[in-house]
Amino acid sequence: MPENTSVRYLKGVGPKRSEAFAELGIHTLEDLLYYFPRRYVDRTNFCRLSDLKEGQSYTVKAKILTSRQHRSWRRRGFSITEAIVFDEMAKLTCVWFNQPYIVDSLKPGSSLILYGKAEKYGGRMQFSNPEFEVDSEETEELLNMGRIVPIYSLVQGFSQRSMRQLVRNLLDEFLPKVNDCLPVDLLKRHNLLSLAQSLLNIHFPESLALQKQAYQRLSFEEFFIFQLPLVLRKLKKNNLQGLSHNTEGKIAQDFIISLPFQLTPAQLKVIAEIKADMQIPQPMHRLLQGDVGSGKTVVALIASLMAIQGGTQVVFMAPTEILARQHYNKILSQFAGLKYKGKPINAALLIGGVKEKEKLIKGINDASISLVVGTHALLSESVKFACLGLVIIDEQHKFGVSQRAVLPRKGANPDVLIMTATPIPRTLAITLYGDLDISVINQLPAGRKPVKTICFTHNQKDQAYKLAKEQLLKGRQAFVIYPVIEESYALDIAGAKKMFSQLRDEQFRGFRLGLIHGKLNSLEQKEVMQKFERKELDMLISTTILEVGIDIPNATCMIIESAERFGLSQLHQLRGRIGRGESESICLLISDAKTEESKMRLSAMAQFQDGFRISEEDLKIRGPGEFFGSRQHGLTELKIGNPLAQMQLLKSARDEAISLLRFDPGLKNSQFTLLKMKLKTRFPEYEQLMLIG
Ligand code: ADP
Ligand code: MG
Repeated sequence: MPENTSVRYLKGVGPKRSEAFAELGIHTLEDLLYYFPRRYVDRTNFCRLSDLKEGQSYTVKAKILTSRQHRSWRRRGFSITEAIVFDEMAKLTCVWFNQPYIVDSLKPGSSLILYGKAEKYGGRMQFSNPEFEVDSEETEELLNMGRIVPIYSLVQGFSQRSMRQLVRNLLDEFLPKVNDCLPVDLLKRHNLLSLAQSLLNIHFPESLALQKQAYQRLSFEEFFIFQLPLVLRKLKKNNLQGLSHNTEGKIAQDFIISLPFQLTPAQLKVIAEIKADMQIPQPMHRLLQGDVGSGKTVVALIASLMAIQGGTQVVFMAPTEILARQHYNKILSQFAGLKYKGKPINAALLIGGVKEKEKLIKGINDASISLVVGTHALLSESVKFACLGLVIIDEQHKFGVSQRAVLPRKGANPDVLIMTATPIPRTLAITLYGDLDISVINQLPAGRKPVKTICFTHNQKDQAYKLAKEQLLKGRQAFVIYPVIEESYALDIAGAKKMFSQLRDEQFRGFRLGLIHGKLNSLEQKEVMQKFERKELDMLISTTILEVGIDIPNATCMIIESAERFGLSQLHQLRGRIGRGESESICLLISDAKTEESKMRLSAMAQFQDGFRISEEDLKIRGPGEFFGSRQHGLTELKIGNPLAQMQLLKSARDEAISLLRFDPGLKNSQFTLLKMKLKTRFPEYEQLMLIG
């Protein structure tokens, strides 16, 4: 069985190579079968030697005229192997450096297929270190030439040639024995190649068309296996017994009436969706997507009140203390006039260094606290709820999957609302978050003006500062964001700390500046934020600690230094801290972007305001693995499938997963045995999932 046989079993793989394999994440024969080429080169067409043009790469077929080996007289121990090859029309010189052993394969008169880059050397055409293969009658199959050739990502200790040979040997031995985990009728329905054919053609494509089909099939398999647990979780949810909340109560109504603004139609639609979920006894598992500033918090607060008015508790988790505190303060002021059973709603803040933690935990435990806002500190085992009715997780992308799973377990199937300000296209969201229902706020509150975004080079910094000053003189406030706290000479980034004193004493003399970063303790952070909120500071110098959630409408200007150091979604998040009030905001990006990628990011920022559009760009630039990061399960395990480029395929895989699990949720039918085994190894928790509900 390839999945539990070590690569050591392969001929030609000793301790050294198996170590190199381990570096590539290849431990078993199956890992190697599924280690796909990074790209291919088409070496099916041979070029005549007389047609070679300088600077281009070619595959040629030629006979050896002479070959010799000599040591370099300039550098000791340095060897040069040289061969002159010819075809009907011309000659070509080939040289190899420090590969003395190859001279044995370069027998005059024998035929070679070579792949190399044509260079002019001493007036003659030459290949340096070309790849080659002896084209003898006995060679059964050419692996490296005269075909579409795979190129693998490799580490020291391997050449492409030896890798190809190892894979070829493995395929020869195992292809006749591989079992396909996809049911036959499914393959037929989607016109997919068999597993054996796919593995063969992904490594050694007979044609580009077959390579493409192999790619389709293997991607489909990945997507399908990735969807099964998500779909199963979703189907199982309907059998779970949760809470039926009293969503029609007066408190939520009073709150909505008390708001100083009209809810947008998009907010109302989402509130209706949440309400419907909360009314029915099946637990809600809903993802709320909305651009920065679209007003997700107020929706979460309305949901909270729907839970509280029925007598259950609510927990609201945010990724930073600053954000948790902001939510908490908002709740204190906005819930001030509301009463539950004649008493004010009792809300609490639970963060790392909080005072009287014991008392808080007791209040959560005996239900005297109805709503608790906090950070990861909430995940602690000591935090136990009397009757948890609703779990809200803000900025979900900042948490790992396992962290997100902890809070719901503190209640008996409570409703769960997960919020994200990094929205992705709907089809993609449905498939990636396949176990959740999805709501979208696709509209910003009225009166928001787009944030004018301008890029400056370091030399033009003073222009940016001048624009910022104009804002401050109008009584507005500004943020300056730096990528790091301490100055890093290596990366040539001005650190927030040093720049703080410089800006205070020079460029922004006479203004009130504050500094905040992650190395300040909880209390210090709180004090700085409070000063800024009370407008006792004009400008806040900060690291990315302000990335998420902060809501200060009077701040209308943001300067981002070394902007090329930030990811696109991160820049958009940062920019989302301004443009929250009625007056026009400006975002000033200072950067000497050098790489193509960073230029693309900055120009996307200047061009687009819409978070959906931005994340699409970001996905394109970075690819889904990087975009979602290691925090998102499954995705980073996709070795071949690209959810963005293959959305349609992903959707069909999901549809198949749904119909399969509706038909046989336990995968009991014998034709699914292999599939079930595969799932068990990929998702150890899967079996448990099949047992519950
Ligand atoms: P985000 O979706 O980024 O979490 P917030 O919930 O922080 O956004 O909301 C941004 C700001 O918009 C807040 O100051 C909030 O009070 C305000 N807001 C929310 N909904 C509306 C609305 N319908 N009309 C006007 N302002 C709103
Ligand atoms: Mg928010």
